[in-house]
Amino acid sequence: MNFNFKNPYNFVKIDWSKKPEKKYPLTYEKFRGKSGSIKLKITSLSPLFIRHTYEENEKKKPDGINLPIQFAHNKKNEYFIPGSSLKGMLRATAEAIVNSCLTVFDGSYERNKITYKLKYNYFKSCKGKEICITCRVFGMQSKSALFKGKINVSDAKCKPPIRFYKDVILPILSTPKPHHTAFYSDPSEGGKNIIAGRKFYYHENNVIEAFGIKYSKRTNKPYNMKIKPLDKENVFYGTVDFENLTEEELSLLIYAIVLEDGMCHKIGMGKPVGFGSIKVEIENIEFYNFLDRLSSRGKLIEKLDGESLKGYIKTKTKLFRESKDINLESLRKIWKYPPEKDIIYRYPERDWFKRNGNVTLKELNGE
Ligand SMILES: [Zn+2]
Repeated sequence: MNFNFKNPYNFVKIDWSKKPEKKYPLTYEKFRGKSGSIKLKITSLSPLFIRHTYEENEKKKPDGINLPIQFAHNKKNEYFIPGSSLKGMLRATAEAIVNSCLTVFDGSYERNKITYKLKYNYFKSCKGKEICITCRVFGMQSKSALFKGKINVSDAKCKPPIRFYKDVILPILSTPKPHHTAFYSDPSEGGKNIIAGRKFYYHENNVIEAFGIKYSKRTNKPYNMKIKPLDKENVFYGTVDFENLTEEELSLLIYAIVLEDGMCHKIGMGKPVGFGSIKVEIENIEFYNFLDRLSSRGKLIEKLDGESLKGYIKTKTKLFRESKDINLESLRKIWKYPPEKDIIYRYPERDWFKRNGNVTLKELNGE
């Protein structure tokens, strides 16, 4: 089948045959792991938007609707990508890389009265004391267990001068669309409504914008909004501190940060309409003595930058770069950067769904 566009997202496949390995995290009594700090350099490759969280009183401004919504910033007018957003992005990336538990998906997912399921329950988000590698690095919480994880991600501040993109009215991204089993469920599983995988958005060359803000007739609330995004070529600096990581966990963290040639991350709002492509690089890594670090900032054991850092990253990411795991192969395709020049990514319209009710996402997107 040949269509002149592709859907803006696709699913990173889950290898159902590869059960996530669950272990006790290294405990703090045994200081066997590696501790330190990774300095990140993040460059925006497209316009980028992460919503500012307004103070209560600002929220109530009656005229707020037509003013553009601001990018995250603090009182000193420093613009930043919040550490929580970065951590969330790195976690979702790590989950896809190692085919681990699905934290955003707790066994079933209901949309438009169709329930999507996991094929095997051991892909449910970790619950006990033995947890998967992603939960060991990033932390987890369930009714019976809490593990706070071994990394801490700071806000990444934008280096002035800040380059703003023009104000944009985002298209309506949240209205319920004719929902499509053929998209969300794994076609190889027949009619069993097994979830197709983990949702990721393609990189795109163009931004799609709307011409106006639409309001609900019933509540008068806007469906979409005007935003003030930052432009491409802004540079942000932040840090990822880590404590007591095994070599395997550190490799995963490093690969989730740098990925590999020909791949980049997406973050923030407007991912389906051309926002949020970023390049994440490591400026340097400092290793600390964990024991010393309990009393002060810690004793620096080693600092890697320049050529030594390059060599270190190459060694630590080798296994992933050479892996042909189906999950990693599908992440490579979706996060391929730069994107193909002549592909238009957009959501299919209602009419398209009417005419192509049985077309799968695989058939529409060609993968
Ligand atoms: Zn887990």
